[in-house]
Amino acid sequence: MRNNMIPACPICYINNTYHDSDNFICPDCSHEWSASTQSTEIKEKKIHKDAHGNILNDGDTVYFIKNLEVKASSLLIKGGTKIKNIGLVDRNHAIDCKVDGQSMLLKSEFMKKA
Ligand SMILES: [Zn+2]
Repeated sequence: MRNNMIPACPICYINNTYHDSDNFICPDCSHEWSASTQSTEIKEKKIHKDAHGNILNDGDTVYFIKNLEVKASSLLIKGGTKIKNIGLVDRNHAIDCKVDGQSMLLKSEFMKKA
């Protein structure tokens, strides 16, 4: 039914696996493994780093390292502008932040962790 959501068995590679509460189960070789471990690994790959390679977290305060023109809103964000309480978005380096009361998605490479 949701076969594309369930990975093939890592032991015997047969695609007969099914999902049972928190585990994936392979009926062919009886291998069970944790589904929650798998999703944690996926989350860990999405690391957002600032211009200096520091890891950014939800709720961090950042500074802009240079002037940035936001084309969608014709707003100019000046270098040194402080943004509080950023939110990380599961997209390429995107940071959800509020500048002058406007919500926007900006790249973490323009920011420096405070
Ligand atoms: Zn198996």
